[in-house]
Amino acid sequence: MAEKKRILTGDTPTGKLHLGHWVGSVENRVAMQAEYDCYFIIANKHAFTTRADRPEDIRQSVIEIATDYLACGIDPQRSAMFIQSEVPAIDELTFYFSMLIPFNRVMRNPTLKDEIRDKGLGDNYPFGFPLYAVGQCADILAFRPQLVPVGEDQLPHLELSREVARRFDQMYCGVDPHTEDKDYVKAGGLFPIIEPKLGRVKRLVGTGAPSAETGELLKMSKSLNNAIFLSDDADTVQKKIMGMYTDPKRVRATDPGETDPEKNPLWAYHETFNPDTAWVDEHREMYKAGKVGDVAVKRKLVEVINTLIDPIRSKRKQYEQRPDDVIDALRLGTQKANAVAEETLHLAKQALKQDYFGKRALSLR
Ligand code: ATP
Ligand code: MG
Repeated sequence: MAEKKRILTGDTPTGKLHLGHWVGSVENRVAMQAEYDCYFIIANKHAFTTRADRPEDIRQSVIEIATDYLACGIDPQRSAMFIQSEVPAIDELTFYFSMLIPFNRVMRNPTLKDEIRDKGLGDNYPFGFPLYAVGQCADILAFRPQLVPVGEDQLPHLELSREVARRFDQMYCGVDPHTEDKDYVKAGGLFPIIEPKLGRVKRLVGTGAPSAETGELLKMSKSLNNAIFLSDDADTVQKKIMGMYTDPKRVRATDPGETDPEKNPLWAYHETFNPDTAWVDEHREMYKAGKVGDVAVKRKLVEVINTLIDPIRSKRKQYEQRPDDVIDALRLGTQKANAVAEETLHLAKQALKQDYFGKRALSLR
């Protein structure tokens, strides 16, 4: 039987999963479980980049995210959901990879710059903050996946993984630099030049006002207090939606030309989540013309979002009653992840000429 192709993707445990995760990545993950061998990383060490002083929160969030995965329909018997810090091969690869990428190149990564700005990190971010971008290359490449389903903000990180893989394969596996990306493994490379797979929505905006600095709506993010979580109860969903930002120009019914639904998360959400596209088209026009107000459009959205997350919420409640099952799912997934990552590390060490004791040494850990 031909081996299934592998997928690797995951989340940082800095909170719970939100609607942005759903349309950006999780929806894809659930759908791809049958066809692919799936690995879902909970990147707990990366959570220390911004909350090293709150280890208890990180631990709690690992459990929350794992519970969210199960509630969304990730099947732990088929797919490996695992804890990053329990897969030490990733750290070993991080060290070697960090030698293959110039520091300035890491700092040019626009996602790091956005995070520094949007999370208000100023000049005080730790040394480990840029290191996490290199660590993410190891998170991915340890699994030598064909596809990486992510949101748009992750593309610069994936580009870094592609660069690291090319450099490693050229330097240590003798791959000709003119080789096409898709042929690196065929040409003897250890690491594939991975391909991102974007979700149905590349970047879902948050419920808050635009950034004062850029004028753009910020992405929905666990850390920015602008998210609707898959675990929010119906009342919370209602409160968040009824209180969410809408374009203030909208209220100038005398000047309807000023209204821009693109600048309005309310319409972004209707377009993304409301299956009744005829309703959306009709009401968008009415809204532009000042014939229907925020309140009515928000009420409809409350209904739409609650319908979407209701089944997830109720499955989540069941898992909340069975914390041991969540831990068991993580244990099983972490075992599977270690088997793959250790194999990769072993092959990497061979390529690096640092395999002094053979494979057996790994099992002495
Ligand atoms: P944090 O605020 O801690 O950075 P986050 O909300 O950005 O958290 P991550 O754990 O960084 O979430 O991202 C996990 C995955 O979900 C990534 O693939 C990311 O691209 C995707 N994702 C996160 N937010 C969104 C969004 N608003 N729209 C689309 N995809 C998203
Ligand atoms: Mg993020």
